[in-house]
Amino acid sequence: MSLITPFFKDAVFINNEWLAADSGETIDVINPATGEKIGSVPNCGQAETARAIDAAAEAFKSWKATTADHRSNLMLALCDQIAENADALAELLTLEMGKPLNEAKGEVLGGMKYLKFFAEEARRIYGDLIPSPWGDRRLMVTKEPVGVVGAITPWNFPSSMIARKMGAALATGCTMVIKPSELTPFSALAYGVLAEKAGIPAGVINVLTGDAPAIGSEMCDNPKLRKITFTGSTRVGKLLASNAAANMKKISMELGGNAPFIVFEDADIDKAVEGAIASKFRNSGQTCVCANRVYVQAGIYDAFAAKLKDAVEAQLKPGNGMDPDTTQGPLIDERAITKVSEHLEDAVSKGGKLITGGSRAGNVGTFFEPTVVTNANSSMRVATEETFGPLALLFKFDSEAEAIELANATEYGLACYFYTKDLGRAFRVSEALEYGLVGINEGVITTEVAPFGGVKDSGMGNEGSKYGLDDYLNVKYSCFGGLGM
Ligand code: NAP
Repeated sequence: MSLITPFFKDAVFINNEWLAADSGETIDVINPATGEKIGSVPNCGQAETARAIDAAAEAFKSWKATTADHRSNLMLALCDQIAENADALAELLTLEMGKPLNEAKGEVLGGMKYLKFFAEEARRIYGDLIPSPWGDRRLMVTKEPVGVVGAITPWNFPSSMIARKMGAALATGCTMVIKPSELTPFSALAYGVLAEKAGIPAGVINVLTGDAPAIGSEMCDNPKLRKITFTGSTRVGKLLASNAAANMKKISMELGGNAPFIVFEDADIDKAVEGAIASKFRNSGQTCVCANRVYVQAGIYDAFAAKLKDAVEAQLKPGNGMDPDTTQGPLIDERAITKVSEHLEDAVSKGGKLITGGSRAGNVGTFFEPTVVTNANSSMRVATEETFGPLALLFKFDSEAEAIELANATEYGLACYFYTKDLGRAFRVSEALEYGLVGINEGVITTEVAPFGGVKDSGMGNEGSKYGLDDYLNVKYSCFGGLGM
């Protein structure tokens, strides 16, 4: 038996039972590094979703009444399971998603850190006693779990996007129905195995795979489900937000980005190149916080471009994620290859100059070379659209005001980055950028202890940190009257 066998589930997890779809239909899952089928999962729809919500609603009755200490201990037991099985979970993740094995392990353990952080925060969900304007009444504010949470997650971080949501949900006393992307369902189903091993009660965590619109509609319509937390594209996020609004459900939306990466003339160029490599090419450019537009001030433009080209060629190696030398896994599928190719062709046709990469890589799988294009301008598609691939376009700017205006000229507002050694500029620019996350002289800033969330079309709500609990809690005011005082 291989390491991953116990976690490689081809059934959905409802009320601690492993089940097939009612129809018996399945969806094939493909390894993007090889193009080969690695397994299949049930193709569930509305009826199975309703049953999973019923199970979560039943479990909520007792789970919400447990002490924070109890939930915290179970969450820590779940963390222990993740830590013990991190190698197997990483291998599973690489098989279905493609990222290098060490990054997959980093993701699995990074997700565990969110669970651990929230296990600790569970004990600190405080209320308030408000000074009363009436002598004979006392005013109390408590925080209560919102109820059953529906979580819909994308393929680019198949494990940690779930852990972030699960951490806040379990800590506050909510129960969950999780729907992962059909492209990467196994890392999600593995949470069912982990939950069983950790002793999490039946119905608290349910994971189902299948027809995304059918599952999403049931989550939006079913009155027993009280919140939808979604990570994915802005298009689907807006659809879910409007459907959830019809039933007055709480929502958290972690949506698309179009991150600017600004390098000022006074920056440490080598640090900026290092940051650009991390921020642009991590996960082969498939993160919502990936730099999408690189703005470089005129005086250092050529020097930065040359150094970035050298770094890309020296450091980045596309290949199967199971190979220890690989730094760049495949793109998720053919559609992703098409999008990167189209953005590249568009840039070159509008005056862009290709300085490295530019082609599909390898004979099997969906690989694309890390690519850098100079001479970019605002008419190019990348200026307004998220590429979600390993393509870096370098734009030139003259003044600080121009850089800010260009950076903000997008409907997105998730992550942005800039490099400068000038302290005044660091504050000025940080305050002027209309984004939820700002990296100043850093290309990777995500951590479980800090909030993660976007503004504008990048969504609403936060994950991680103490702020991440708020979206899973209702505030209740109780007025105790007739106290005879
Ligand atoms: P997507 O197409 O929106 O899919 C995300 C999830 O939504 C998947 O589980 C998908 O299921 C499901 N889905 C699709 N259509 C649905 C519908 N009509 N109703 C309910 N669910 C539906 O996004 P993606 O291509 O997987 O992910 C990439 C996007 O996610 C990028 O835009 C990226 O920026 C964004 N993202 C944002 C964050 C953040 O924290 N802000 C983090 C990571 C990614 P199926 O896959 O099974 O169809």
